[in-house]
Amino acid sequence: MTGLANQYQAINLSQGFPEFDAPDFLKKRLAEYSEQGFNQYSPSSGISALQNQIAALIARRYKQTVEPESTVTVTSGATEALFVAIQAITQPGDEVIVFDPAYDSYAPAIELAGGKAVHIALRAPDFRIDWQEVTRVLSAKTRAIIINTPHNPSAKVISEQDINELKGVLIEHDLLLISDEVYEHITFDNHRHFSALIDDEIFSRSFVISSFGKTFHCTGWKMGYCVAPPNLSSEFRKVHQYVTFSSFTPAQLALADMLNVHPEHVDELAQFYQQKRDTLVKALGDSRFKILPSEGTYFLLLDYSAISSMDDVAFCEYLVKEVGVAAIPLSVFYDSPPRDKIIRLCFAKHTQTLLNAAHKLCAL
Ligand code: PMP
Repeated sequence: MTGLANQYQAINLSQGFPEFDAPDFLKKRLAEYSEQGFNQYSPSSGISALQNQIAALIARRYKQTVEPESTVTVTSGATEALFVAIQAITQPGDEVIVFDPAYDSYAPAIELAGGKAVHIALRAPDFRIDWQEVTRVLSAKTRAIIINTPHNPSAKVISEQDINELKGVLIEHDLLLISDEVYEHITFDNHRHFSALIDDEIFSRSFVISSFGKTFHCTGWKMGYCVAPPNLSSEFRKVHQYVTFSSFTPAQLALADMLNVHPEHVDELAQFYQQKRDTLVKALGDSRFKILPSEGTYFLLLDYSAISSMDDVAFCEYLVKEVGVAAIPLSVFYDSPPRDKIIRLCFAKHTQTLLNAAHKLCAL
């Protein structure tokens, strides 16, 4: 879609990346560390200054203590962490439960490990997890569950009740959890992010994965991390060692300084994106799209059934070519796509970009 957006010079609200730059402080520190000669391999599990800052962030945001050296592993983006966690725990024949619509890397990583992704489809408009269905699909081969909250693409935030249901299933069936929390700092209104880190019993069987790309507007740096108890971190590191060995050294040092010197950046992120969501929602107020609630992330779903009977892939092609706005069809996030007429917009863009796109969409 980004390729098509460029080809047709459309406003690109498709792929999830910020239009604005990373903070100046962070960019300066990156340049300085590189200039000062910090350009060689770092320890495989990460530079201790960054591991310590990640642990401090967890203590500040979730009131949880994790021991940095044995539980925090710095990775080359959340995608690497997801891949490594899946390879570390999936044996041929194992089943891993994935909720669709799902981030596209989960199922291929499971299949590459010889496992089977067992898809449970969540349905619009509320994308609620049916825990009875989860129990129904469990088998002796089920090894793990992958969750993502706040959720891309539905923009839903898992509730405390879901976390309790999840805990019951994990314990009763002795399962592991991969918790993709890359949008952990972006929740809106009264929605609180329930991290797998906040419950000791859940955390004892979890890989909690996050991304600096989302938090510091630097998706191209591909920097992330995985927090897991020492026994799971040790398995994780056996794979991480041979996937990448270590991650970008100057960026680790710069991110450690950023977390240390500018904690307000993380604390203000939700408010920053909530304003963008509100701008886009308001600007689409007079359109014929039905706007689905966005509780977190930087995505907004629109139902276009009042506008067109095209399927969502055809509608997105029409939007990019004829209307000048690029969006993502929801069906691509499903193993068995429903026939919903829903598209995803990314609002990590400048206000004027959002207003220009909304103007075009309101004409439909
Ligand atoms: N998980 C989800 C749900 C995402 O949306 C993304 C980024 N699009 C990632 C993981 C990957 O993050 P990273 O860019 O750090 O690999």
